[in-house]
Amino acid sequence: MPLQPEISPLELRGRGMTSQRTRDRMVDRLARQGIRDERVLNVMAQAPRHLFVDEALAHHAYEDASLPIGFGQTLSQPLTVARMTELILREAPKRVLELGTGSGYQTLVLSSLVDELYSLERIQILHERAVQRLARLKVQANLAVADGNHGWPDAAPFDVILLTACAQTLSSELLEQLRDGGVLIAPIEDSSGSQWLTQVRRVGSVYEKRRLEPVRFVPLLQGVVN
Ligand code: SAH
Repeated sequence: MPLQPEISPLELRGRGMTSQRTRDRMVDRLARQGIRDERVLNVMAQAPRHLFVDEALAHHAYEDASLPIGFGQTLSQPLTVARMTELILREAPKRVLELGTGSGYQTLVLSSLVDELYSLERIQILHERAVQRLARLKVQANLAVADGNHGWPDAAPFDVILLTACAQTLSSELLEQLRDGGVLIAPIEDSSGSQWLTQVRRVGSVYEKRRLEPVRFVPLLQGVVN
């Protein structure tokens, strides 16, 4: 992979629609929308979301919207990222697995809040772009290309498994990679086609499912794209 130059302070800080003032306004909005965890608000006030989308879209990066990242995939809207991060932090997790690295923005947000972060992406090019962005920001995370339906057996068990793509069913192979007491947080589609943010807690060999709120995500697919 070609080496990327160090990120310039100007690029990192942004200007105009990508400036600190714009990030602060996004965070004020998140607080009004019900995000209470100061750690989440602080991290999102710092995270340069404008570097995780195409340059032509950078000035939309802090709007209350999901954004295209190529290959028919999307970077979730800020509220969704904040909400999922808040749910994860309730678990005081050490080791977290994310399925669906995408742009790498959710990975960036989580990286300073958990001890060990693993993230899988099925589309090789999206993975490579995320690796480059995160390396330039000196983010510590373990990224790989794989079909997340199989989890990351060598790194299991996890305190939290987060899906950023919508599943229809969850494999036992994946659920068994949760530690006892751990939770999986995922958009799951019901039989009528509606998506619900869902929390599944492992209690021994029992998996307790709780529906949280309606959401809209791209689907969790099978296999990898090279
Ligand atoms: N967390 C991402 C959201 C990206 S959208 C971000 O912050 O940008 C969801 C991502 O999940 C897409 O990149 C898609 O390619 C990926 N995905 C879908 N099915 C997958 C699977 N089975 N394994 C791994 N990644 C998957």
